[in-house]
Amino acid sequence: MNQRINLVGRTSAEIAELVAPHVDRPFRGRQVARWIVERNASSFLEMTDLSKQLRAELERRFAIEEPEPVDIVQSADGSSKYLVRCADGVEVECVSMREGAKATFCLSTQAGCAVGCTFCVTGAIGAGRNLKPHEIVGQYRVMVRELEASVERVNIVFMGMGEPLLNTENLGRALQVLYESVSPKRITVSTAGILPGIRWLASLGKRPKLAVSLNAPDQVRREDVMPIARRYPLDELFSTLRAFPLERGRRITFEYVLIRGFNDGGADAALVAGLLHGIPSKINVIPLNEDPEHFPDLRRPDDDTINRFAVRLRDSGQTVTVRWSKGADVAAACGQLRGRRSSSPAPPISLQPR
Ligand code: SAH
Ligand code: SF4
Repeated sequence: MNQRINLVGRTSAEIAELVAPHVDRPFRGRQVARWIVERNASSFLEMTDLSKQLRAELERRFAIEEPEPVDIVQSADGSSKYLVRCADGVEVECVSMREGAKATFCLSTQAGCAVGCTFCVTGAIGAGRNLKPHEIVGQYRVMVRELEASVERVNIVFMGMGEPLLNTENLGRALQVLYESVSPKRITVSTAGILPGIRWLASLGKRPKLAVSLNAPDQVRREDVMPIARRYPLDELFSTLRAFPLERGRRITFEYVLIRGFNDGGADAALVAGLLHGIPSKINVIPLNEDPEHFPDLRRPDDDTINRFAVRLRDSGQTVTVRWSKGADVAAACGQLRGRRSSSPAPPISLQPR
């Protein structure tokens, strides 16, 4: 029974091909694929237009395995944080945010993060293993099941736990599956600036949108809070971004975590504007979500400072949004996702993209 092939994390074409030799008629493979990809079935029993005998046969050979939700916490602002458990006991978090008819899902790609940014809780818990395609797609599937019928559109952001571009192989396969439900233009991959990963994204035929966590206005300060900046310096990052192929109408999003007295001055806003000059971009200012346990010395600026910083950027011609964090009351906001430690810690992953 352990040899059953999991059908989650595969495209419809792959599912149909795997199933084809075990069904009576050619179209049945596509039927099974539709149940899994479009209708989000979590068991073969649901596939009521297949005979009982066929369902039993599928059950013998295949599995519909995905992470299981073990905790859902709802925030007052309409966002929900899910803790999901993978088959080996590893737990990760993902978040669903509602805004009118639109829902945005924030997905994790790793159970922890080896990049170790000093302001990030996921970084503070350290490296965790890479999530597999079915564990990435599974987060989407779990959250879609909970959506109300009134939601018309889903956006996906890879801004949960981990660094997506240090898990490109699994991310790439998960994207192929997700594209069947969500257009690439509604999917954003956020990176700390892993250059080989950005080049990989640039090489894809179908690309999600790119977001880059800038977080500091110069190389020295960036190294201070993002150790990865030593390996992938700001000047190389920006020359790679200037060469990044952008579809019509697309822009690169820059995320900038605002930390009191560190990177929140008017002169810093001017430096950021200078860096972005000439790149079709928008900037997302994220006031720090504080965490006294993991980084007691880092504070969020006051609201006036946050607004001044945003206005200064806007006055220099940038498109700016301030992310007054969603889900902060249930620790579902950026940089607050931690999963829960499983009893046996996963082996650390390397910083080299695979
Ligand atoms: N590893 C990727 C994606 C996950 S982090 C990346 O770094 O881009 C998603 C976003 O949360 C990043 O922009 C990061 O800068 C931000 N973030 C991390 N910790 C934060 C905190 N404590 N407060 C606010 N934003 C934070
Ligand atoms: Fe990892 Fe992103 Fe957190 Fe940095 S901000 S530690 S890259 S998850």
